Amino acid sequence: MLSTALSKTPQHVVGRGLTLSIVAAFLTPQIMPASAGADEASSRVRSTNPVILDLLKEARDRSATFRTLVEAIDHSNGIVYVEFGYCAFGHLDGCLLPIIASTHGDRYVRVIVSPEKSRLNHDQLLALIGHELRHALEVLEHPEVVDDPTMENMYRSIGTPIAGQRGFETSAARSSGTAVLTELLRNTRAPQYLEAAARPFAD
Ligand SMILES: [Zn+2]
Repeated sequence: MLSTALSKTPQHVVGRGLTLSIVAAFLTPQIMPASAGADEASSRVRSTNPVILDLLKEARDRSATFRTLVEAIDHSNGIVYVEFGYCAFGHLDGCLLPIIASTHGDRYVRVIVSPEKSRLNHDQLLALIGHELRHALEVLEHPEVVDDPTMENMYRSIGTPIAGQRGFETSAARSSGTAVLTELLRNTRAPQYLEAAARPFAD
């Protein structure tokens, strides 16, 4: 199930967002391949996990919809971190966490996706990341969203509540996830991605 959940941990997320941005600045030169383009190295869609960075690159290469989502975020004032973790105590496979530290005009959003390969196959995981990036873009397209309450207000107007969870779903995110998965199924995996996928998710 591809879903968005909201939780009441804004302080925690703000702190992590700022910390992660510093860590990533040191890690980036080591984990980006020498052939990486400048736009990739400076993308506003980031991760502290090299495995996820490989997934982001693969998804951009194989899916035009995914590439469009990343480019839209790159042209926003947002910075999106994609990390492995658990949403709603494992009830959801992915979520967009509030919020959002507004520092120097940047807004930070964190996407969490499940690390459990038993729940999603490889392409489903990439599609889930695309789905959650659409949610991130929903936030970044609304400049009034700067904290947990304003984010919830925005989703009350554009989303529908998820039954049994404190969170919302949108048709736009569902459509993006479906489009990404369709494109991935058309563009099978190139050999260079198979080695990356064999690595464990853990840091
Ligand atoms: Zn969703």
